Amino acid sequence: MSLPTIDHRDEVYEDPLDLMNEIESLKKEKDATLLAHFYIDGEIQEIADFTGDSLKLARDAVNVKTSTIVFCGVHFMAESTKILSPEKTVLLPDLTAGCSLADSCQYGDLDQFQKQLRAEGRDFETVAYINTSARVKSLCDWIVTSGNAREIIDRVPADKEILFVPDQHLGRYLQEVTGREMILWPGSCMVHEIFSIQDMLRAKKNNPGSLVLAHPECPHPILEVSDIIGGTEKLRQYVMSVKEPGIFLIATEANMIHPLQKSAPQHTYIPVPGIMASSGETCACNRCPHMAKNTLQKVRDCLKYGKPEIEWQPYFDQAKDVLQKSLLQ
Ligand code: SF4
Repeated sequence: MSLPTIDHRDEVYEDPLDLMNEIESLKKEKDATLLAHFYIDGEIQEIADFTGDSLKLARDAVNVKTSTIVFCGVHFMAESTKILSPEKTVLLPDLTAGCSLADSCQYGDLDQFQKQLRAEGRDFETVAYINTSARVKSLCDWIVTSGNAREIIDRVPADKEILFVPDQHLGRYLQEVTGREMILWPGSCMVHEIFSIQDMLRAKKNNPGSLVLAHPECPHPILEVSDIIGGTEKLRQYVMSVKEPGIFLIATEANMIHPLQKSAPQHTYIPVPGIMASSGETCACNRCPHMAKNTLQKVRDCLKYGKPEIEWQPYFDQAKDVLQKSLLQ
């Protein structure tokens, strides 16, 4: 990953409303569309043309008509956008916005492990969660998101073993729901790893009648006590389907509460962890530090200067084939 080309260390305070207006004008001037992941700050989601989970955004990006896409998310997502829309200029407000989960599966390590399995005579296909670098994707047979994982795993021939990378928690969950045994890569997400079962049970006790909504990247003990498990879009659809006001404890990145509140404002949402036992206040220590690198100022600057840009890499060609057959077909 190359270094960022704009230095924001001396970022001074600017009024968010002024920045939002400036971004709206720049979008028109530069013929740009803004895409924002559900884990991005709510102010940015407000001015985005498309918001969603990885699967929805990958599909939305393909249909964008403007010449430029600003992807407010992390590096692997912007890479996937460039791969699926090579003719577009794809900008990422901060090139150092990485992902601990993607980092837990490096190209060299996976390549070596696959060679070792083949040398042992194992007949397998590699299924990668979308949270992987494009180089890693180029080694894989299928790409899944939490929204389409089940459907894709059903497409892997029954006589093949499955090597699932990089998220061990999602892999374990998928083993349960699909009944397919998998060789699991030992990766995980730093944000979803922090939820503790004690926090969860305390929050449930303090909020009688509440339901726990969890992302399958959460560790198994959390999923065991959760009422609804799903990717961000599935969770959003679920709260919209419940008409009576309810209390939902949200075990995923805390910014997810923004689209939930917008889609189903009748409910109360509480981020997990974060219930202060006596006061009932909440904290939000479950913010993704990589997603948080996307600020209004950086969005404005990348539109203004046309960088940082995701450049085409030689290994994108191979990653393109697997991304297209997995997400678009
Ligand atoms: S929340 Fe976790 S999986 Fe998502 S971008 Fe952040 S580190 Fe990666």
